[in-house]
Amino acid sequence: MNTSSIVGQSPLTASMERILASGRIVHAYLFTGPAGSGKKTMSGLFAQALLCTDKNNKPCYACKPCRQFISGNHPDVFWIRRLENKTGIVVDQIRDLQAAIKVKTYQAGRRICFIDEAHLMTQQAQNAFLKTLEEPPSDTVFFLLAENTNTLLPTILSRCQIFRIGNLSAEDIIKILRRRLSVSKEDASVIAALSQGNPGKALALAEDESFQYLRKSLIKGMSLAGSVKILDLYAIFADYRDRVEDLFNILQLWIRDLLILKETGEWSLIVNQDQSALLKRQVSSFTSAALRDMIENIEASRTMLKRNSNYQLTIENMLLSFQGGS
Ligand SMILES: [Zn+2]
Repeated sequence: MNTSSIVGQSPLTASMERILASGRIVHAYLFTGPAGSGKKTMSGLFAQALLCTDKNNKPCYACKPCRQFISGNHPDVFWIRRLENKTGIVVDQIRDLQAAIKVKTYQAGRRICFIDEAHLMTQQAQNAFLKTLEEPPSDTVFFLLAENTNTLLPTILSRCQIFRIGNLSAEDIIKILRRRLSVSKEDASVIAALSQGNPGKALALAEDESFQYLRKSLIKGMSLAGSVKILDLYAIFADYRDRVEDLFNILQLWIRDLLILKETGEWSLIVNQDQSALLKRQVSSFTSAALRDMIENIEASRTMLKRNSNYQLTIENMLLSFQGGS
């Protein structure tokens, strides 16, 4: 298989390769992984390889089906997507699909039907879809894309071959950022650390204009730890409440860097390379124990917010618990 467009994911591409080589194509593949993990990219690559007419190099990006697939105009490729005014994929959409696949394919090859956000299929939609899976048309392959499998009927899962999309390494994320966007090495390594192996999240952070502002304001504000002035940082948490996870991650990564610097003095292990002057200035203000406590306090605040604790109180207590200490 031609995987030149893909970074990482080698276990997945290896199993796709085995399937292509054996020619044993099943009727349904389920790609599962969190939002941004690469379900569309990976399922798209496999679908294109199944449609490609090149003998050896699939997908070749040059044959007619490849070109049609890339441009989104392949007549035998269908997408079911959640309608804008609906919270789930509804049964009528499955019925439309069932009607569409009764018709002969336009081209000689296979027909591919994607169901995006398949985890949002209603119970009724799943029951209808199950009937199709029980007697699938021979020329059709279904690709289900799902953030998780918890809401899918076991009878659907048992009829799908499941591809789990794993997290990427920081190196792979950096490669993607450098390939797709003009991100500096320093920024790419910070974003890679904050995106926790999720390429979609990394690309979104790289294109997010407020991200660098948030990061710089927060880490600069850490100079105020141990003084009541640290409460000024609450203003950022109030303004960007919907991004509190990002804010926690930025702080944790910064404190982790301070701790590494304090304990090992090893600059090569530092993620926030572009902020070396600020790191040097802050590192002497904290003891290792205080830094460890801060990391724990951030974790505790995450947990408390998940349990619906009062937002302002939780954040302010966390900030006040950030003690300077030498
Ligand atoms: Zn091709």
